[in-house]
Amino acid sequence: MTDASRRLAAIRERMDAAAKRAGRDPDDVTLVAVTKNRTVEEIEPLIATGHRTFGESRVQEAQSKWSALLARHTDIQLHCIGRLQSNKAAEAVRLFDVIHAIDRLSLLDALATAATKEEKAPDGFVQVNIGDEPQKGGCAIADTGALVEAVRASTIPLAGLMCIPPADLQPGPYFALLAELARRHDVNGLSMGMSADFEAAIMLGATVVRVGSALFEDA
Ligand SMILES: *Cc1c(COP(=O)(O)O)cnc(C)c1O
Repeated sequence: MTDASRRLAAIRERMDAAAKRAGRDPDDVTLVAVTKNRTVEEIEPLIATGHRTFGESRVQEAQSKWSALLARHTDIQLHCIGRLQSNKAAEAVRLFDVIHAIDRLSLLDALATAATKEEKAPDGFVQVNIGDEPQKGGCAIADTGALVEAVRASTIPLAGLMCIPPADLQPGPYFALLAELARRHDVNGLSMGMSADFEAAIMLGATVVRVGSALFEDA
């Protein structure tokens, strides 16, 4: 077993156990393998295991690393998990299948315009600034409903809500709050949970977890 397949299997096992503890179906939770700052040589062993869902933070970096890989593996789903500038919307629509950080109307408009032009619409998560932190992306909690409605009215299919809880605080209450916002606005998908906290996120309803370091380094 390679390091990649061993780590991937261990994460999947922990994900499945967390889902079962919460009385959920493990198949309802998708693992996005986050490959930002990782080289093509580090990514290829993960692809070789059969894993097909990957996440990157920056458009330029994703383009340079993934163009050749995507040409060879047409069934890979690439997720954009980082903050996105509106002027990168066209490139993002071409490259990504899912966008996790729609946090303002201007970005939504840029993505919708690009989707029409490219005749390809990625699914979109609305990112909520769940800890109300000035340095973080995400819309204000109070603006969640309006942004969700705007996505629903657009050409971008709504995938759900996404958050990154404040560092150094217990993430559970923030995951629970995002799940409550999703219920309030009748949204199904929840992108929440990273290497340090994906089990808690799954127990609180995550349908997508974004795991990077735990897939590449032993704890
Ligand atoms: C880097 C990153 C992750 C993965 O973080 P790890 O702690 O390495 O698992 C998840 N989500 C976002 C938005 C990130 O930028």
